[in-house]
Amino acid sequence: MENRWNDWKWQFANRITTAEQLKRVLPLTPQEQEDIETCLGAFRMAITPYYASLIEPSNPHDPIRMQAVPSILETHADANDMADPLGETEDSPVPHLVHRYPDRVLLLVTLQCSMYCRHCTRRRAVGEEDRAITPAQLQKAISYIRAHTEIRDVLISGGDPLTMSTAKLETIISSIRAIEHVEIIRIGTRVPVVMPMRITTELTDMLRRYHPIWINTHFNHPNELTPEAARACAAIVDAGIPLGNQTVLLRGINDDAETMKRLLLGLVKMRVRPYYLYQCDLSCGIGHFRTRVETGIEIMRKLTGNISGYALPKYVIDAPGGGGKIPVGYDYVLSRDDKEVLLENYRGQRYRYPQPGQ
Ligand code: SF4
Repeated sequence: MENRWNDWKWQFANRITTAEQLKRVLPLTPQEQEDIETCLGAFRMAITPYYASLIEPSNPHDPIRMQAVPSILETHADANDMADPLGETEDSPVPHLVHRYPDRVLLLVTLQCSMYCRHCTRRRAVGEEDRAITPAQLQKAISYIRAHTEIRDVLISGGDPLTMSTAKLETIISSIRAIEHVEIIRIGTRVPVVMPMRITTELTDMLRRYHPIWINTHFNHPNELTPEAARACAAIVDAGIPLGNQTVLLRGINDDAETMKRLLLGLVKMRVRPYYLYQCDLSCGIGHFRTRVETGIEIMRKLTGNISGYALPKYVIDAPGGGGKIPVGYDYVLSRDDKEVLLENYRGQRYRYPQPGQ
């Protein structure tokens, strides 16, 4: 068991996908079991044994549980819900490719994840079936990137690309790397958080052959910062891959400054750079996770100046309808004219900065 526990393929094959299986590791009331079964009609569940082991069974509001176990609130329609909140379908010139910003594209290589996050933005597609991009679809996407010389950055995402075999992933990465104008390749993955044993030497040895590679992961709560996750992050960074993190602001999980501070400082200790803090978007069935925007602004205000700038992510709203990421924050500039700028520091003290002459 010990050996198999550390084998990612075993973790993947033994994911908890039904209420019946979940009941063996978490006490569930008959009502909870029924609610889970109702939710599974809309968005499937999959929890790796590793991630399930982080749940405190007696706590119904455990932050890991809330991210992994369906809640009946997912079936409540919110007037603001949108099937494709980021408008990715509209910006997709060929299947599996999103080209929104001029110099970069998003390549969606699989619909499969090791754990289906209840707050997933792409829940309209992710997890519907365990389908990866076909060789013909990959060729189409590669041809598009090759024909668009303005593309200098390709983000490989999904689903979770690191649920694919190393060999399949290498086929994709090597095809992209063969395109001269592509400068950097990025991978978006939640594997270091939910299935850290996937970060094997075989994987990092392959990735380091295609530098510059960057990875962005998705830690949301300090309880996810385990020794296993730390080892996975260290292996990535030791392979020369800069590792960033994006967190989603989630009600009842990380929407207070103290929890966020522990998360951000813990990440920096693991050599992971907090990159974005996302306002939870408008995907269907996740309204119960959304906070008011003021909550995010207030958390960032409380942390600014009190922790190192390295630990501070950029708080953004991915604008509904495909407007892209828009930074939001507390305004430290109180007033500004031709002569001076009136500023407020993190302690609320005011300072004047004289403007240079024109
Ligand atoms: S890992 Fe990412 S794509 Fe997969 S379910 Fe979680 S948020 Fe969605």
